[in-house]
Amino acid sequence: ENSGTDPKNLRVKLVLLGDSGVGKSCIVLRFVRGQFDPTSKVTVGASFLSQTLALEDSTTVKFEIWDTAGQERYAALAPLYYRGAGAAIVVYDITSPESFNKAQYWVKELQKHGSPDMIMALVGNKADLHDNRSVSSQDAQEYAERNTMFFIETSAKTADNINQLFEEIAKRLPRPTP
Ligand code: GDP
Ligand code: MG
Repeated sequence: ENSGTDPKNLRVKLVLLGDSGVGKSCIVLRFVRGQFDPTSKVTVGASFLSQTLALEDSTTVKFEIWDTAGQERYAALAPLYYRGAGAAIVVYDITSPESFNKAQYWVKELQKHGSPDMIMALVGNKADLHDNRSVSSQDAQEYAERNTMFFIETSAKTADNINQLFEEIAKRLPRPTP
């Protein structure tokens, strides 16, 4: 939920979900620090980062980003993690059909336990590995539409569509009435 009341300066808790290894932490680090570290290890311990984005209509959105600390392996803990979240990014790897199946599991979990007005994005990451693609953009797009999510393919490695992802979420957030 957007906990701020100032319509010009929004604040939102954003969670990332998806299989281990799909690039969740790399997406966050690309967005927040503008970096990609190919040697980065699996996230251990809690990870919390924030980043403020300025939109064209002069509103700002402060993302309070919760990156899983391996909770993807402990589905039972997930509801604690996404409690109070106004936005969720569900990530898969375009070269991994298993990760796309897992993404659909997370979408169902969010629909069951998340806030009904949560903004949800379906993200096909590692778009730079298109030569090894095994999830079609069209299938993912259709799945996203059926589940009232928006869909985008990104590459944390090349930075392709990373800012666009967060901008699209920001634009869709409900504006509090002044
Ligand atoms: P997480 O477990 O979902 O947080 O995944 P990580 O962010 O730790 O990334 C897992 C692995 O995928 C790492 O070796 C990254 O270097 C690699 N990776 C992440 N994003 C991309 C990407 O966009 N393209 C490519 N080629 N590799 C990526
Ligand atoms: Mg991680």
